[in-house]
Order: sequence, then C-alpha cells, then structure tokens
Amino acid sequence: MVDKKKEIGTPVQCGEVIGLELVKRSGMRIPESAIVARHAFTRFVLGREVIIDNHEPYWRAVTVERKIFDKHLAFRAASAGAAVQADTRLLSVRKDGERVAGCMLSHHGEEMEVSPKAIVAADGVHSTLAKELGVEFFSPKDVARGVEFELVAKRDIPQAMQIFIEEEIGLGYGWIIPKGKRRANVGLGLVGTNASRRTFLEEWITGHPVVSRYFDVDKVLEVKMGDAPVPGFLGGPVRGNVLFCGDAAGQTLAFVGEGIMPSYICGGLAGKHAALLAQGKGERYEEELVENMADQLMMGAALRDALVELWASGPYDGRARALLSGAVMNELVSPDALDDVIGPMVADPLRTFRDLAKGSGMTLRVRRC
Ligand SMILES: Cc1cc2nc3c(=O)[nH]c(=O)nc-3n(C[C@H](O)[C@H](O)[C@H](O)COP(=O)(O)OP(=O)(O)OC[C@H]3O[C@@H](n4cnc5c(N)ncnc54)[C@H](O)[C@@H]3O)c2cc1C
Repeated sequence: MVDKKKEIGTPVQCGEVIGLELVKRSGMRIPESAIVARHAFTRFVLGREVIIDNHEPYWRAVTVERKIFDKHLAFRAASAGAAVQADTRLLSVRKDGERVAGCMLSHHGEEMEVSPKAIVAADGVHSTLAKELGVEFFSPKDVARGVEFELVAKRDIPQAMQIFIEEEIGLGYGWIIPKGKRRANVGLGLVGTNASRRTFLEEWITGHPVVSRYFDVDKVLEVKMGDAPVPGFLGGPVRGNVLFCGDAAGQTLAFVGEGIMPSYICGGLAGKHAALLAQGKGERYEEELVENMADQLMMGAALRDALVELWASGPYDGRARALLSGAVMNELVSPDALDDVIGPMVADPLRTFRDLAKGSGMTLRVRRC
C-alpha cells in the first residue's frame, strides 16, 4: 500500500462525518479514539425558514478525526501483513497490452519500479491510475467542489449534523458537522459555480442568520478543501489488472457526496478480488459490489438526479426548490412521485411541505431564520 502523503490521513479533505447504517453494513468497529462526536439525528435547515429534525436510523452518525481514522486503517493493514509506505507516489505506469506491468514510484524521493500482479486503484477523485490508463469514469461536471473550515464556536452548538439547503448555495449544500460542543467543520459543497471557494464560505458563514449565530471566521483551526465525485452508480470498474474503487470509481452516495464508508466497503471488495486476480483466479468484483452496495449507491444516484433536475429547470423559485430538495433528501417524496407535488409546492410551499412531513415522525419547525 503506497500513499504519496508524508503522513497518512493528513491533510484532511473531508467533513469527517460517517453514517452509522453503513458502518453496520461494513462490520467495521470504529476505534473510540477516532470518534469525536455522536449525532442521534440530522437537522435540515431549508430555505433559511424550515427546520426539520430527522431521527431515522439512516441519519444517525458520528464525526471522526480522519487523521486518526485513516492512520488506524493503515495500521490495521500493516498489522495484518501488508507492506505500507507513506511518502511514496505513483508517478506513471508501464503497460503490457491491457495490463499494467510496472509502476514507477517515487519512494522517499528515490525513483523505483515495482511489478504488481494486481492493483487496487484507491487513489482518489483525481486518480493517477485513471489518467495513466486514459480512462475517465466521470466528467468534471459530476464533481462537487468542497471547502470547509474547522471552527471554534462562540456558544454551544446543537449536537447534530446540520444540512443547509437554500437558494444562496444553489445545487449543493452547506453543513455544520460538530466535533464537540464548541468545535465543528463548517463547509459547503458547491456544484456548477466557479466562485472562489474560500471567499464564498467566509461570506456564507458571516451572512447566514443561523451559522453566524455560532461562528465567526476568525477562529479557523484548519482549512479543508477538496473535490467530491457525485456521478451516480458506476459499478466496480476493472481495466486489465487494475480494480478501481472509492472516489477513483465515483463510489459515493451521490446526493450528499458521502464517501468514507462506501469507499471502505467497495475498497474491501476490490482488495479481495485483486488478491484472487493475483493468484491467477477470475475476479468477481463488479458482481459482488452489485450484491453489497448497489442498493445504496443507486438510491443515492436517484436522489441526486432528482435534485439536479430541480435546480436545473422548472417553474420553481428558490424557496420551493429548497423545500422540494429537503423533501427529496428526507424521502418525504420519492423521485418518481416528485411531479405530483411540484404544482402544490409552487402554489403554497409551506403548506405542501407540512402535508408531506405529516405522519413522518420528524420534528418540523417553521421560523424565519
Ligand atoms: C470537502 C469534502 C467533504 C467531505 N465530507 C465527507 C463526509 O463528511 N463524510 C464522508 O463520508 N465523505 C465525505 N467526503 C468524501 C470523502 O472524503 C471521500 O469520498 C473519501 O475520502 C474517498 O476515499 P478514497 O480512499 O477513495 O479517496 P481519498 O480519501 O481521496 O484517498 C486517496 C488517497 O490516494 C493517495 N494518492 C492519490 N494519488 C496518489 C499517487 N499518485 N500516488 C500515491 N498516492 C496517491 C492520496 O494521498 C490519498 O491518501 C467529503 C469530500 C470532500 C471533498
């Protein structure tokens, strides 16, 4: 296992929140030392007007310190027998037909070549292996631009992940992810805007009636920036002896860009099937991926498509878009039934949203923020 980072897990480019449903599915035990906060529910703040608390198991989560979490995974790999090399960058590959016969690495600054029998390409959204093999699994328009500050709060923050959907952000969303009572990742996932991420975030925080109640932008512990692929379900791509997984294969829950657990689960499968390939046996990566993760990844893709459609066209103003997006994300309306509620939502957004939320068991509050 090679990673170009000098310290595995650093720098962090992530909101660090992990949904517990997928943790259960993965069978992983997150080490206590990596968990910094627990969230019994997720709060959606829609159009700076409607607040809905979703206590469904799907929206329960923990925040991890990814520097500790990622290093822990590498520790487990090394303890189980893997060779692990930080500060080792894949520069290029030597091909032999479909197969990669050699990998040129820069190892602590020294160039060297290794000849793996099989390769797991878990090298992120801007995958070197994809570039070297000339494959493009998703286009730049399927990549969200993320920016985040880890901030110290001026008062206690609610211990729940908060998701902000509003006209001021457009397609995409904002978040507060607590890392304790007075510390949180505050960020934005932006789609289809080329504005300076940092300036956008600073202005969003200071101008937002809810966010600015808790945070100023003069207590920044860390700046985290990165891109998140949200292409929808692409399966488990294999090229020759290279199995792509995680962000490199766009394996995220596309409607929110959540990728830690999907990458872990899909990466585990890629590793298992890479081992079979290395032993000269046939691999069944794609099939096993479909059995284990297609439901989640496809559900995420369907929700994402509905959101893209909502923000791209239609007779709605920003308020109706925010409420409709919230209804889709909270599964108050399924993407297939969206057309039925668009008319009423445009005519009377609040009343329609209330009707949709009725009987869902979710706590709904309406107040001008
Ligand atoms: C701003 C932002 C916030 C996010 N928030 C969340 C969140 O709260 N929860 C969540 O679940 N997901 C979140 N995500 C998504 C999540 O971070 C990713 O989906 C996840 O990290 C993907 O894991 P991965 O292992 O596939 O890729 P990565 O975590 O990107 O790891 C790829 C690794 O490959 C290494 N590498 C790359 N190129 C080379 C090379 N040439 N040679 C050697 N090593 C190389 C990198 O150093 C890196 O360590 C967020 C993403 C962004 C951008």
